[in-house]
Amino acid sequence: MDKGSLLIRGGTVITATGRSEADVLMRNGLIEAVGPDIGDGFGAVDRIIDATGHWVMPGGIDTHTHLAHPIGRLGVMTADDFYTGTVAGAFGGVTTIVDFGLQEQGGTLDAAREHRLGVIDPDAVIDFGFHLIVTDVNEEVLAEMGDLIRSGFPSFKVYMTYGDKKIGDDDLILLLEMAGEHGGLIYAHCENDCAVTHLIERHLAEGKTGPAYHATSRPPAVEAEATNRAIMLAELAGAPICIAHVTSSGAAQHVADARARGVTVVAETCPQYLVLDSSVYDLGAGCEVAKFVCSPPMREQSHVAALWEALADGSIQQVSSDHAPFRFEGQKTGGCDNFTQIPNGLPGIETRLPIVFTEGVVSGRLTPERFVELTATAPARIFGLTSKGRIEPGADADVIVVDPEREVDITASVLHSDVDYSPYEGMTLNGFPTWTISRGEVIVDEGALTAKRGRGQLVDRAPIDPVTFL
Ligand SMILES: [Zn+2]
Repeated sequence: MDKGSLLIRGGTVITATGRSEADVLMRNGLIEAVGPDIGDGFGAVDRIIDATGHWVMPGGIDTHTHLAHPIGRLGVMTADDFYTGTVAGAFGGVTTIVDFGLQEQGGTLDAAREHRLGVIDPDAVIDFGFHLIVTDVNEEVLAEMGDLIRSGFPSFKVYMTYGDKKIGDDDLILLLEMAGEHGGLIYAHCENDCAVTHLIERHLAEGKTGPAYHATSRPPAVEAEATNRAIMLAELAGAPICIAHVTSSGAAQHVADARARGVTVVAETCPQYLVLDSSVYDLGAGCEVAKFVCSPPMREQSHVAALWEALADGSIQQVSSDHAPFRFEGQKTGGCDNFTQIPNGLPGIETRLPIVFTEGVVSGRLTPERFVELTATAPARIFGLTSKGRIEPGADADVIVVDPEREVDITASVLHSDVDYSPYEGMTLNGFPTWTISRGEVIVDEGALTAKRGRGQLVDRAPIDPVTFL
């Protein structure tokens, strides 16, 4: 079927491995050719975009989003569904997400997959996959994993804390062994549950109940310890592991040390940990602090500096958003008097690429190539998205065209997420795309959404190769 053709002419193509002045020709959803002065010899095209002065890069891949995600304990749902959330993503240069599908207690992973597909498919405007969140480990679940991995669902999320989702070390090692055997990947939220539970109870008993106490109930040591433990269990099981949202120098150091001794561990961090710090929890700010409640919380500046170093030197491999959008009024404010009642998470799918672009590339901490690696190429490689994250013939034509000079002043109203605040209000960011292209189709066209609801497709993901994914 002819799905049309598009030529992007006159831009600078930037990939994870280099840059060149080149045109990009797309046809039938795939990249057909990349090179200087394409046009003659390739036949007529349906549309030509003049990308003079722009950078042409792989579309962003966000492997950590929570859309239409329920928090059962609090009876709330994230504010974005798969329509508003993926629209926000498209405006922020994201062309693929990997979200989550939650296993119910007593339910199978297969049932979780089927249910989740039914939720996402009608709404998504960009391509999608999802990790299955394993909450209830038993013989049947372990027996399902091999088939799931082989059928395009190779990654499994686990929480080492969070009451209703938590699994213990005994279950974690079983999951790691099974994943290692079949080409799967365990993706772990690492915090020491005993310590967090104890510290929360201690805070509440002492009357320290306001939103700011969320942060002191989850100090860096609880993250570093659990990160080290997860890595050690993966090492014992001979399985690869991905550490979710590294926020502290201790956790980053455990990842770097393990990689140096040959453990197959990769890690992500998120923009909030790179541009915000623990000053957002200033007690004077009252309930406003609830806007910044997420787990793990933001850290002191020394940790922020360590994360930038880890991104530059390669010991952290990708930046995802952990987009978990809750409205301030009516959702976050439910916990003004008790921080344990605040839904955890920040909106960030739309600002992820611009933050890493502005604070990484524009400020000189990262090369443009490293930006592409962290936001597209590495996430694709780590999570088995073999058709995405590259600009080369045969790859999916997922491309963003960015004017590196264009600046946007951030307010909630210029963004597209269905929330009433942005944690980045007041920042000025470069790196928003002029055009976002998904499988050769322009879906954001100079500020206008041109994507139809539900056009996004499930991405077939390959089993994980623990050697190349590093
Ligand atoms: Zn998350």
